[in-house]
Amino acid sequence: MSKTVSKLPDSPLDLEEVIRMDETYEYCLFSDANEVVAILILGNEKAHALGYDEEAGGWVVVQSEPIESQAEGHERIEDAIDDWAVSNYGDELASGELEMVTPGQRKKNHRPKAVEEGFELEYDCPECDFYKTGLTAAPQEFLNHLRNEHDYSSEEAHDVL
Ligand SMILES: [Zn+2]
Repeated sequence: MSKTVSKLPDSPLDLEEVIRMDETYEYCLFSDANEVVAILILGNEKAHALGYDEEAGGWVVVQSEPIESQAEGHERIEDAIDDWAVSNYGDELASGELEMVTPGQRKKNHRPKAVEEGFELEYDCPECDFYKTGLTAAPQEFLNHLRNEHDYSSEEAHDVL
């Protein structure tokens, strides 16, 4: 029997709540309902993958990894979330009802007001999680990213901008 996480409610989390939690990274989201059923969260010493398990009646720890082993630990914990989501919500993932939201996409859910209102540009890489806004980056940085990370020609990079 899995023990549930007492700090979390015994229901899926609301997307707004998750966005407000600065220590959360990836999560699994039912986008129509704005309901989050899995999160990667950073504690003081460990990163935890948590999932909402209806049968267990709440949130359970899917996996924990010490933070020191950063890159490796991160990969293991991401895999753990993926595996957990597939075994618990496989049908919903396959149909696209449930989606995995990565840190870059997370920032998009958290757009600054100036961007939301169209006063600032956003730089959204089509190839990876790179996402910045005119508040934090210059266009040149985005162009350099596309050229250096994804081998875009200058012309291709300007087309994305
Ligand atoms: Zn990129």
